[in-house]
Amino acid sequence: MMQSAFNDNGHWFKGNYHSHTTLSDGSLTPEEQIGLYRSHGYDFLAITDHNLMTSRRSWGDRNFLLLPAWERDISYVDKVKCIHVIGLFSDETEEECSFRREKGDRNTMTAQQLLDQMRGEDRNVFISIAHPTWSRMEISELLELKNFDAIEVFNTGTECLCHEGHAEYVWDTLLRHGRHTLAVACDDTHGHTKQDDHFGGWIMVNAPSLSRHDILENIRGGNYYSTMGPRIIDWGLDGDEVYIKCSEADEVHFITWPARGKANFDRNTTEMRYTLKGGEKYVRVEIIDSEGKRAWTNPIYF
Ligand SMILES: [Zn+2]
Ligand SMILES: [Zn+2]
Repeated sequence: MMQSAFNDNGHWFKGNYHSHTTLSDGSLTPEEQIGLYRSHGYDFLAITDHNLMTSRRSWGDRNFLLLPAWERDISYVDKVKCIHVIGLFSDETEEECSFRREKGDRNTMTAQQLLDQMRGEDRNVFISIAHPTWSRMEISELLELKNFDAIEVFNTGTECLCHEGHAEYVWDTLLRHGRHTLAVACDDTHGHTKQDDHFGGWIMVNAPSLSRHDILENIRGGNYYSTMGPRIIDWGLDGDEVYIKCSEADEVHFITWPARGKANFDRNTTEMRYTLKGGEKYVRVEIIDSEGKRAWTNPIYF
């Protein structure tokens, strides 16, 4: 019996959950940013300006959703290391508009205090550690942190800045330590780099409707995949096999632990299977198309 890893709610919605505007250090106004994503076929966007929570209902409508969100950070004395954290909020109030500045002192707060504060402010918040490679986070530091849902497996902005957008190894290390962690691909758009940092990575969320509640709930539940372009049509379990159906890929990889998974390099693959060896704690799939663009499933845990 094929058992999909997706909870099929009937609709796929495309969104970028991390972007900046002139409300902090981005180059476009919120209206320009929203217009650009809308015109490129996106269904939702989060404006995650630095330490400023943005929620304005009238920036969205029935066909385009703006998620209440921000990017928090704490200051490090040496300026080499940092931690940036994205929070997506449910904001169930019917207020048309809210902007909110951080609470607490960025100079004295620890990373864990920041995460705990964000969780404490909204029990439905989705918390994601942004660009861990660019932030120079040690694996040991991440393993000490609790109270986050995800890390960014790909961040277009830091890839354009200095080729530090990827974090697959960081993600797998967390998973190997039994930390059930989702991963997100995003733009982190600022608009300052020579290489345009729009439309490089996004998530496809399966949800019943394009409402704040439905999108946030299905992100928090991991009912999405991350991509730079390729589509994951379905994936899941079929007896002792993990299957995947996708748009044409030149590489399909099954990543597992502690058993070693499997790499496939058959051109134009649209379906692939991996037979479980037994003892796998998790399996995730990564595909790469002929242009080198990747897509990532979230893990299945055993
Ligand atoms: Zn950041
Ligand atoms: Zn950012």
